[in-house]
Formats: sequence, C-alpha cells, structure tokens
Amino acid sequence: MAYDFDLYVIGAGSGGVRAARFAAGFGAKVAVAESRYLGGTCVNVGCVPKKLLVYGAHFAEDFEQSSGFGWSLAEAKFDWATLIANKDREISRLNGIYHNLLVNSGVTLHEGHAKIVDPHTVEINGERHTAKNILIATGGWPQIPEIPGHEHAISSNQAFFLKELPKRVLVVGGGYIAVEFAGIFHGLGAKTTLLYRGDLFLRGFDGAVRKHLHEELTKRGMDLQFNADIARIDKQADGSLKATLKDGRELEADCIFYATGRRPMLDNLGLENTGVKLDKKGFVEVDEQYQTADPSILALGDVIGRVQLTPVALAEGMAVARRLFKPEQYRPVDYKMIPTAVFSLPNIGTVGLTEEEALEAGHEVVSYESRFRPMKLTLTECQERTLMKLVVDAKSNKVLGCHMVGPDAGEIVQGLAIALKAGATKRDFDETIGVHPTAAEEFVTMRTPVGG
Ligand code: FAD
Ligand code: NDP
Repeated sequence: MAYDFDLYVIGAGSGGVRAARFAAGFGAKVAVAESRYLGGTCVNVGCVPKKLLVYGAHFAEDFEQSSGFGWSLAEAKFDWATLIANKDREISRLNGIYHNLLVNSGVTLHEGHAKIVDPHTVEINGERHTAKNILIATGGWPQIPEIPGHEHAISSNQAFFLKELPKRVLVVGGGYIAVEFAGIFHGLGAKTTLLYRGDLFLRGFDGAVRKHLHEELTKRGMDLQFNADIARIDKQADGSLKATLKDGRELEADCIFYATGRRPMLDNLGLENTGVKLDKKGFVEVDEQYQTADPSILALGDVIGRVQLTPVALAEGMAVARRLFKPEQYRPVDYKMIPTAVFSLPNIGTVGLTEEEALEAGHEVVSYESRFRPMKLTLTECQERTLMKLVVDAKSNKVLGCHMVGPDAGEIVQGLAIALKAGATKRDFDETIGVHPTAAEEFVTMRTPVGG
C-alpha cells in the first residue's frame, strides 16, 4: 500500500526533530506534527530557558565576590521583567532555527494537535495523513499531586513566564527541577524554602554529593526542609498563599512551585485506536528498538520514561532514524555512563556509578574525595567548597564513577565521561597531566583513598 509518508512524527521536541531530520536526510518522506512549540520542552520550558535563568541568578554572587578583586559597584538591582523578555526573545530565535532546520531538511511540518486514528493514520487540523510508521515523541508534562488547593500551585511550565519575581517561594520536590529552581529563586533574591518529603534530596545521586550540596545551600541561606510535605494550600484574602504541612505547620508564600516529576504526554493522542501498551507507570512501552506493541508505531524520549534527558532523546531519535532508513548504520543507544548535571548553584556534575550503586553491584570499592575552597574565592569572604569524588573498582582499577559539586561541574564532567566510556583506570587518571591552575586538575591528583 502507498502511504502519504514513510514516517509521521508526533512532537517536534528534542527526540522528534532529531528522528525526523535524520530520516529525511536518509531519503525518507517525513512529516512532523507540533501542537505547542517547536523544539519542545527543552527549548521552550526546559533546559535552555532554565540555564538562562541560572546564569541570571549566578550574577548575584559574582557581584558580591568582585569586591575582593578590587571592584566597587553601585548597589546591584535586578529586574525580572527584563530577564524574562530577553529570555523570550532568545527562545523565539531558537523556534525559528528549529523551523528552518526541519523545513530545510525536507520535512513537512504540520502545526496542530495530532491524533492517531489507526496504526497507519494521523489526523491533524481535520485532515488525515497515512504513514508506514508513526513515531510518538510527545514528551512529558509536569505532575502536581492533587492535594486540596493544588490549583494555586505552579509548575515549571508557568515559572518561566511569571510576571514578577515572587518575594517568598516554596519549592516542593527534591529532584533536578526543584533543586535548580530553588537556586534560581534564591539567587535572584526571593526568600526560598525547599520542601522535600524524604530525608535528603536528590535521591539516586551519590551520598557525598547530596550531603555536600545540602551543606553548601544551607551556607548560602536557603531554607531546606526535609521530611516535609504540603497537605493543603489556601489562598488568603491578601492574595498570598498558606501551605499547611502534613505535620500541621503553616508556611506563607507568594508562590508555591511544584517539581514533583513528569507524566507522559498522551492526552487525546488516540492510543485507544492502536495496540500500543503502557508500562506500570503509564509510559509507552517499547522494545530495545523503540517499537511499541503495535508494529507500525514507535516511541522515544520522555514519553517512554527511560532517561528523561535531552541528549538521550537525541540519541534515541538518531537510533530510530537509522533503524528504519539506514539499518546498516544502526547502533543501539548505550544507556550506561550517561553524564548529567544539575544546574544548582553550585552545579552538580556526575557520570557513572555512585558509591552506593557500585557496592550494590558487588564491586569492591575504593573511593577518593577531595574538598577544597576554589582558588577564585581565596580573595573573597565566600566559604563555598568544591567536592570531587572518584569511585574506583579495587580489583580492576577501573574508574566506575566521577562526581563533582562546584563551579562548572557539568562542563568538567563531560570530558571525564569520554574517559569512563573508554574504560579508564585510576592509573590512567593518575598518569594524566593536570591543567594548572584549574579545579579540574584535582581529578587527576587524588592519591589517598577515603579512610586510607
Ligand atoms: P519534548 O521535548 O517534550 O517534545 C515533545 C513535543 O511534542 C512537545 O513540543 C509537545 O508540544 C509535542 N506534542 C505533544 N503531544 C502532541 C500531539 N498530540 N500533537 C502534536 N504535538 C504534540 N534535560 C537535559 O538534558 N538537560 C537539562 O538541563 C534539562 N533541563 C530541564 C528543565 C526542565 C524545567 C524540564 C521540564 C526538563 C528539562 N530537561 C533537561 C529534560 C528535557 O527537556 C527532556 O528530556 C526532553 O525535552 C525530552 O524530549 P522529547 O523529544 O522526548 O519531548
Ligand atoms: P524528578 O523525578 O527528578 O524528581 C521528582 C521529585 O519530586 C523527587 O524528589 C520526588 O521524591 C518528589 N515527588 C514525587 N512525587 C511527589 C509527591 N506526590 N509529593 C511530594 N514529592 C514528590 O522530577 P523533576 O520534576 O525534578 O524532573 C523531571 C525530569 O526532568 C528529571 O528526572 C530529569 O530527567 C529531567 N530534568 C533534567 C535536568 C538536567 O539535566 N539538569 C533538569 C530538569 C529536569 P522522591 O525522590 O522521594 O521520589
């Protein structure tokens, strides 16, 4: 049967755009549907605007520390509206780039909400299009628990467009988004409280990293409350919000921001018209080659709930395009050793196993840790300390994990990820000459194991 398209991609986010562009490059006839914004979450309400706000927040400490280097500045003033307007301008520019990327690579763009009507047909703006394969790349959506008054809370989707910087913010959650946004609000001058339901935030990160970030954020005056969760939210007569915690305490705020995870975006997608199955958490179930239970339908990125990171969605997009249209170049995505950063202030950068994971996997672990005051701070009052940690397998000498909390941790860890992927040993690290004077050189000069 002749189809209108070889591949119909639903969602022009990180994964969808990558799959569409490469598929078109391999000679396939491709369409992409996008209902909201070109570039998806990452470009519009994720990585990119988030990082711009983190840069904005970082200036506060740069101004403060500059006096140690002889600078004197008039009192620094911050204008939220300017930051948001400039951010919006940059995002519009990126939307245009994504538009051109798609169109110039020969992809047909359909702007509107796409619904699958049968395993080979998509309906959008009242028209039906057939395709040999359909790719679900619809991403995720913030999930706020339905406690009484949850409608007064915001998620990351709204945080990027607030009209003004709230004076008092409660951030709920202990994952990437909560920690990053707590840093943004705090850095920009809002009185910020982070509430996390467990004992210590950033579950899944190395214990030393979690503890170190806790200490650093506390030093900066951020109010961190663990084993704390909101039972209800009430709007008060003056427009402010009152959060009643499960332990009965009451906290007042101008903004309550929930960062409690993301659900797959499957709204009105028409999955009931297909054989696609969902996993226990509600994400689209796929095999190793991103095929759903319906053979003509594939899925990738946040909607399959594996690793919700842009570079992972990009890698999956590439794998799908190759698998369908360039099978001789197909290589499965390697989910091991995925480096990642939390753009908290200070940053976390991490790749490989945490000490806890290494022990659980049966490794005999030797770990190395270094804590120091970064050189840039020696002329300032700032007492921030950097943490670097290596997790090493005692038997093979292989470095299993690298972890850092400190300035530019994400930048530093990217290079280390290549070394770990290539199977570097601790001896390789030791024999590598440092770049002096940098913080990064500490990773090649750690000699004494923890407790050694
Ligand atoms: P998305 O990028 O979400 O794209 C899905 C697209 O599908 C959307 O544009 C949506 O409008 C569209 N769509 C949905 N349904 C339909 C439909 N029925 N019809 C048509 N179109 C539809 N990752 C990092 O690696 N680094 C970071 O620093 C980082 N920061 C983040 C910060 C925040 C606040 C958030 C929320 C996420 C962040 N992420 C980060 C995660 C990253 O954004 C996602 O992993 C990535 O965007 C997933 O790509 P995707 O292609 O799966 O989906
Ligand atoms: P995460 O899954 O990272 O964290 C969710 C947090 O909310 C956890 O601390 C979780 O607690 C808590 N939580 C979940 N449900 C509830 C509830 N009902 N009540 C109270 N607390 C709850 O999700 P995020 O929303 O922070 O981010 C989504 C994903 O986006 C991330 O996992 C990451 O993959 C990606 N991302 C990546 C970034 C980066 O690369 N820098 C930045 C931002 C997002 P518990 O730990 O106890 O389960």
